[in-house]
Amino acid sequence: MAADTEVVRRFLDRAVPPENLSSAQRQKLESEILALMEAKNARLVAHYYTDGLLQDLAEKSGGFVGDSLEMARFGHECDADILIVAGVRFMGESAKILSPDKTVLMPTLEATCSLDIACPIERFGPFCDQHPDRTVVVYANTSAAVKARSDWVVTSSIALDVVEHLMDEGKKVLWAPDKHLGDFIRRKTGADMLLWDAACIVHEEFKARGLEQMRQVYPDAAVLAHPESPAAVLELADVVGSTTQIINAAVNLPNNDIIVATDQGIFHRLQQQAPDKNFIIAPTAGNDATCRSCANCPWMAMNSLQALLQSLQQESNEIEVAAQVAEQAMIPLRRMLEFAAKNQLSVRGKA
Ligand code: SF4
Repeated sequence: MAADTEVVRRFLDRAVPPENLSSAQRQKLESEILALMEAKNARLVAHYYTDGLLQDLAEKSGGFVGDSLEMARFGHECDADILIVAGVRFMGESAKILSPDKTVLMPTLEATCSLDIACPIERFGPFCDQHPDRTVVVYANTSAAVKARSDWVVTSSIALDVVEHLMDEGKKVLWAPDKHLGDFIRRKTGADMLLWDAACIVHEEFKARGLEQMRQVYPDAAVLAHPESPAAVLELADVVGSTTQIINAAVNLPNNDIIVATDQGIFHRLQQQAPDKNFIIAPTAGNDATCRSCANCPWMAMNSLQALLQSLQQESNEIEVAAQVAEQAMIPLRRMLEFAAKNQLSVRGKA
């Protein structure tokens, strides 16, 4: 874990999981939410890692399920007055940057991300200042202020292409915040990359030794891993890719058994897309100090129907991004979107 373990732990202590609901409670909450969404012209956008109940509700109500950037793009394109972002805080900020005129609410503002926490602008800005010869490339899992300080924002699915493009231009890269994803790109491209030291608490817990043992139990299984996982895990994977690339591989590969190294929330979509396949979560340490719910992001889990209803009723937990920061953050975001359009690439990633 990066140097910010203590800070991350403090945030984790506040990540209280939602209570289990009976079927009657769930139905009541859902119908109240649907009625309010209609009355307020609100739309729900949910991340792949949130509870399946929220993903289903987003789809049922004409909202959207996907990664952070696609969520933000959907939010920008839809005609709602209110966007409710079920995910973690940087996703709410990205939605607000792309839709400054809409009200952006979140079920809870306590839902954050270890990558975002471990890369505060107060430290990141001076770090960039110390390396003026490097092009600053940041992952989508960062605050609006960190995005505003960057030259490029990337998702996991486009990061390799952007870094290769920068290499072709003879540029050196300052990469933040995920060190495993940065290391993966550096090894793939050979680019000159200076890496910030942060990690995702979920992906960092996947263990290569356990994965080797699991492969012996399921010798015909394909292993799909997200590049936020440690290098030793990625070396054992048949496919390394973003959430969308993992979903596509699971559907298209002939293997019946699929071992998956990413947040378990994705199983909801995997089972919808490939109902006959057997999905198995890759092994984690299970008792590491920061592993509160292995392969299950504790912050994503804070998004509950109860919290969503309350936020919508009170129009609370609103995301605000200062206009100047949002304008500045739009520049590297737009750069990525234009690069993707020009090269006919997808920006769909995990972030
Ligand atoms: S799964 Fe990891 S990268 Fe995603 S929000 Fe949780 S801590 Fe952040």
